[in-house]
Amino acid sequence: MEQEDRDESGVSRRDFMKMASVGLGASAVAAAGFAADAKAEAKPSAGPTDSGVQAVYVLKYAEFGSFPNYLAYWMGEPLYSNQPPLNYYMMYWLIKTKDRNILVDVGSGTDFAKRYQKYQSPDAMLAKVGLKPSDIDTIILTHPHFDHLDGMDFFKTPKVLIQRAAFRYAVEESPEFRYFRNSMYPRKKDTYALVDLMWDNRLKLLDGDKELFPGISVIRVNGHYPGLQIVIVKTGGKPVVIAGDAVHVYDNIEKDRPMGLFQGEVRDVVKAYETIREFDGIVLSGHDNKVGERFKDKAIDEAVFKIYP
Ligand SMILES: [Zn+2]
Repeated sequence: MEQEDRDESGVSRRDFMKMASVGLGASAVAAAGFAADAKAEAKPSAGPTDSGVQAVYVLKYAEFGSFPNYLAYWMGEPLYSNQPPLNYYMMYWLIKTKDRNILVDVGSGTDFAKRYQKYQSPDAMLAKVGLKPSDIDTIILTHPHFDHLDGMDFFKTPKVLIQRAAFRYAVEESPEFRYFRNSMYPRKKDTYALVDLMWDNRLKLLDGDKELFPGISVIRVNGHYPGLQIVIVKTGGKPVVIAGDAVHVYDNIEKDRPMGLFQGEVRDVVKAYETIREFDGIVLSGHDNKVGERFKDKAIDEAVFKIYP
């Protein structure tokens, strides 16, 4: 029988989600199975100042240019192989609180600059919002794929928070198989980067769902990557759901066309969509160029979108 997901202290997934997303309205709370106390939870308890979250940004550090359409969808080859390639956006995210600058992932470093279009390194991206890499105190790593981790070279001081399951998969499970050793998932460099962080006492391993800072929580969804975590940011209104690669493109979740690239289980890929929908929040996808249209009015630059406030 399936065991219910629990956070580090044993709180059930549903109770944890309720806590993590005060922005849920009564109807969403009821829909999510929290009906019993939906009324009580619907009161506006946490405004922006309560959570301490001041701003959430999307930082688009590159464009992939030409990504085969069928790879975006599970078993998509017959349906999508004749569709035009997608211009994947390469992104990470910044959460500013009154006393912290938190990055969710760090994108690719210069290793990949030539493979992408419009690549900008982390120091260049952060300069657009008035920050330097040394101003970042915390990095939440959704998962250690190269396009989310490789930019770590630019960050010498922040603590890095990753799920233990993701660490183990990158360090001791996937490298066991020739198929993965010969692929970029992971690269040897990415595995070593995690081990280096651990030896530098900068890596914190998480065991499930957790509120990391007031108003900022992670949920371990797995699927695209074993130990993949998403980040929920309370805002006082709809929560911001940094889905990252749990949602490669919006059609994955909005049209029930699961993603085609995953190293975990497809059932977890699909279950993550259910979890994300229950938040009824502002969903930030990992790679969809629709971010550019959807948040056009939030653009402060061609590559920077201030999603909240
Ligand atoms: Zn990715």
